Amino acid sequence: MKTSALAGRRQKALRKNGSAPGDSRRRARAQFLAPFAPLLAQIEATRRDDLYPFFSTDRESALHGRPVVLVANDYLGLSADPRVRDAAREAIARFGTSRCASPLAGGQTTLHQALATSLAEFLHQEAATLFPSGYQANVGVISALVSKDDLILTDLFNHASIVDGARLSGAQVRHFQHNSATHLERILSQEASGRRVLVIVEGVYSADGDMGDLPAVCAVAHARGALVMVDEAHSLGVLGDSGAGAAEHFDLLNDVDLIVGTMSKSLASVGGFVAADQNLVDAIAHSARALIFSAALPPASAAAALAALEIVQCEPGRRDRLWRNTRTFLAQLAAAGLDTMRSVTPVVPILVGDASRTIELAARLRAHGVHVCPAIPPMVPAHLSRVRAHVTAAHETAELDTAVETIVAVGGPLGIGRAQRTAALRA
Ligand code: PMP
Repeated sequence: MKTSALAGRRQKALRKNGSAPGDSRRRARAQFLAPFAPLLAQIEATRRDDLYPFFSTDRESALHGRPVVLVANDYLGLSADPRVRDAAREAIARFGTSRCASPLAGGQTTLHQALATSLAEFLHQEAATLFPSGYQANVGVISALVSKDDLILTDLFNHASIVDGARLSGAQVRHFQHNSATHLERILSQEASGRRVLVIVEGVYSADGDMGDLPAVCAVAHARGALVMVDEAHSLGVLGDSGAGAAEHFDLLNDVDLIVGTMSKSLASVGGFVAADQNLVDAIAHSARALIFSAALPPASAAAALAALEIVQCEPGRRDRLWRNTRTFLAQLAAAGLDTMRSVTPVVPILVGDASRTIELAARLRAHGVHVCPAIPPMVPAHLSRVRAHVTAAHETAELDTAVETIVAVGGPLGIGRAQRTAALRA
């Protein structure tokens, strides 16, 4: 429906109901909005100053010609691959745009089954099941597997979807210091006895771009009878000889108990999955509320992920290019005096140190055709505010050179780079 027609209907409804919301309803709405006052003020200020940083990239392309896009997690550059696009198109032609049903109510097609089987084989697991998103996979798996008498030990830097799944499960949740198997061991020795314990880590951490210490975590957790779940969102397609992730990189595919992942990054689609022993997968697939009470992944998304998964396995050169780009980009940023925190992967944070300069940097970079993602509270603590860039195999060397030059040129006057580092050293 046209916007003007909608506006007309609203006007009519307003006339019919007498007026705009009355005082008491306005007061009630204001009460609900009160906690958002600082956020809304910030949004308004950035819009007013033309610094609003959350634009879609196609809008920007129209404005600036060809931008350097560093916001997509399309690590192997497969979202533009004709084979992946054709697969999605054919799936729509064959199965329609959506099955309009949850998985247990007939929402899955033979394509979904083929994708689940391929994922399980790729990850050396007995079985896998699909979720509509990676977020739902974490929430669904965790809340299905553990409950109030259990204990979840979760890395302090784990993704919001893990945090939310842990909360929803009703289990006791304890955080261990980021990547510290020593701290994990201490909590396990003090609190684990007699309980079921699920330890949750990530293969590559999405905030800092460092790798999870899977060998130490598995050793400590398994010695105390805990299960280990690893979220391979940013490591699938990126780490390991065949791209199977951090568990493959560390030769632990047979040791981790549950592998969760998303299709929205290296697999150039959307959707989530869990891969594990058949019984674990069956239990989750028939009880995870985030799966059974939500419509199944659209067939086009399953087909795109399946096509991408085949390419991941037969074109290792893409991973080589990704890592060449990553090493060059990290080295150039470091040489320019920028702080890339702990990153050793294609997830590259650039520390700014406060939220408002982070927003300003992201907006000014965008104006110069370089797209990075601002990470500010509540995503990270204010003093660790940063912009984040995602390197992919599809980036040209010249594009990454341009990005570094622009970040240095735009960041300098904002005190980001050498000046910031010198100040930090003096402090
Ligand atoms: N886990 C991690 C570590 C992530 O970074 C993300 C998304 N950024 C997710 C899960 C959720 O994935 P999705 O986008 O498919 O919901």
